[in-house]
Amino acid sequence: MVIKKRCPHCKKEKGLRCFNREKRRKDGRALYCRVCTKILKKTKYAAQTRETGRKYRERKGEEIALWQKEHRANNREHYKKLDADNYQRNKEQRKAYKYKNRDRDNASKREYSQTDHAKEVKRKYSKAHPWIQQENTTRYHASKLKATPAYLTKEDRAEMREIYKERLRLSEETGIPHHVDHVWPLQGDIVKGLHVPQNLKVVPATDNLRKHNKLTPELEEKYVAIMLSIAMRYRDKQGSRKVK
Ligand SMILES: [Zn+2]
Repeated sequence: MVIKKRCPHCKKEKGLRCFNREKRRKDGRALYCRVCTKILKKTKYAAQTRETGRKYRERKGEEIALWQKEHRANNREHYKKLDADNYQRNKEQRKAYKYKNRDRDNASKREYSQTDHAKEVKRKYSKAHPWIQQENTTRYHASKLKATPAYLTKEDRAEMREIYKERLRLSEETGIPHHVDHVWPLQGDIVKGLHVPQNLKVVPATDNLRKHNKLTPELEEKYVAIMLSIAMRYRDKQGSRKVK
């Protein structure tokens, strides 16, 4: 005769085999059937488990963090490989996840950028790195004059920011205000210069103002050299694009 037992969750009579072994119980089997145990673990007990885990981390969190830090330091190679493996294994999944949630992420980024905290961080950053803002503003005005070429790269912009940084350094060190000058003026009478690294130069402010966008033989010579180098670079870039 098969002994049957009633599961109080699904209210079904099932054979003992349908229940997990549990020594401390009288009949040696768990109260709920296997199917229900699985369901209950996922729902009822999950919250309980999470709570236990949370309490444990609260109590031992610092200790664990210290241990992990030390263990990582002592097994650097092992963790390096582990991290690299994880990165490779989850690469596609992470990419897919990012793609799937891009609207939500962009929206939350936009929302965050409107908060006082984000604005404060941005303001502090701009204050500490004024040359970035200066270059951005000039590039914007140059683009209005159609003097910002579309082929400017990230590296070009970084180079230009460095020039604006240099301007601040010179102004501070010499005590004489310096400007970043377009060697060939953006609004020149005969030819118009471009907002590119090769066309930027740090000069004392008075020099810059005296020039008034007028053409001198010295400038003309410089301009030809700059435009040539830009043209060569542009040709190289187009060439490399075709190869791709
Ligand atoms: Zn059941």
